[in-house]
Amino acid sequence: MNTNMVVTCSTCEQDIDCRIGYSNRTVQPLSFGCPVCGSLLEITLDISCAPQSGFSFKGCQPCEDRAQGSFGSGNPFVNLHLDFPVREGGYRMGETPYLMAFEEVEKNSEDHVVAQRKMHDFTMKLDILNEMHEKADEVRRLINLYSGKNKQLFQLRASQFLEKPENKSLLPQDVNATLYLVIAKAFFPFTVFGQGKEISSAMPRLMNGLDQDKLDEFVLSLEQSSFLPTLHRDCIKLYPRIFYAELPLRPALFLDMTRHAGTEKVATKISSQDFLTLKDLYKDIIEVVNRQLVLVAGLNNLQHRGGADSFKAIDGGSLSSLRKFSEKTLSNKFKYLDDCWFNLSGEVFNLGLRNAIAHNNIDYDVSSQVITYYPEGGRLEEPIARKMVFLDFMQLLLDSFREMHNLNHVMKSILYYKYLVYDRRYSSSGD
Ligand SMILES: [Zn+2]
Repeated sequence: MNTNMVVTCSTCEQDIDCRIGYSNRTVQPLSFGCPVCGSLLEITLDISCAPQSGFSFKGCQPCEDRAQGSFGSGNPFVNLHLDFPVREGGYRMGETPYLMAFEEVEKNSEDHVVAQRKMHDFTMKLDILNEMHEKADEVRRLINLYSGKNKQLFQLRASQFLEKPENKSLLPQDVNATLYLVIAKAFFPFTVFGQGKEISSAMPRLMNGLDQDKLDEFVLSLEQSSFLPTLHRDCIKLYPRIFYAELPLRPALFLDMTRHAGTEKVATKISSQDFLTLKDLYKDIIEVVNRQLVLVAGLNNLQHRGGADSFKAIDGGSLSSLRKFSEKTLSNKFKYLDDCWFNLSGEVFNLGLRNAIAHNNIDYDVSSQVITYYPEGGRLEEPIARKMVFLDFMQLLLDSFREMHNLNHVMKSILYYKYLVYDRRYSSSGD
């Protein structure tokens, strides 16, 4: 369903033709930059009393003296839809964001039926997202409970969220198992289920093939330095923040269906504007991934050279320990991951962007949705600008979140090894 309306920008009084496509989300906060003066205009659609549509406006007003639905020539035109990337350009009847999106999926599918199934799966995913974002506060509280002292309360509240009988056990492996069920359910729409499953089944095989004494030394060092518990806590704390990105992530989730097909991206805009509140999330996720690489390196060294601290010699020298590795900058870490067992997605590491965010050398233009960042900003010479559109940033954010989640499966496996193998071995031997 679509509604056509004309709104007037409150700042410059320009009339703008808008076509609003309907999502299934109860409240749909749409926003865009005025094509003339660049002010942020917001139209919120509320379908809680469907079939009636409730509209509210900020920065603009509906134009009263124009017949709804009949666009005159001359006004700028914008397509708006929460769930899909939208095309720029003039109004063309029938070319709604939904139909354009479907056409894009169809181009990348064997036939019409396959395309329909994909769109159906996407709608299902969005329905789960609608349900989960409404439970975002509950998920946040659950993750805080997990990190707190009262594990019994965590088990109780988690069972209510999971709609499963309560697991009364307070053994760390059982409390952890509950945590991972909560994560799997709450963040299902953002993750790629198959990837996590693959890592979870590969990890025990990998660890079984390692020298057990050396592996135990590695696990002991991670515990003694508090590296693993601290990293685990910081990682799971980031999860609920992805709900803040839920609106502009929708078009990025849609692109999962088409982006690997190598087709040219014709639709480039998103119908919501949260870049400035989301940029730090990307930086913080990359920070956690950076620390997770220490685990990847330790296991890689164990696999190739029999010791977690045994790095391959690079440029005539070698790193003496994982601690030294952990002190390296992110861009310097990769070269020490020789022939790595974990398939790192290099695309998620835009270090120039991360640096620009960290030093606040970044601008965002609401109308064009272009992010301009200066990786080397803050020096006296003229900095070199790089550009990226908001939709590409949202894909980057989604990919980095998925990478952190995949590496969380590595942490999960090491923790299980500790609880179920390591702790038992050393408690029964009397050490
Ligand atoms: Zn304006």
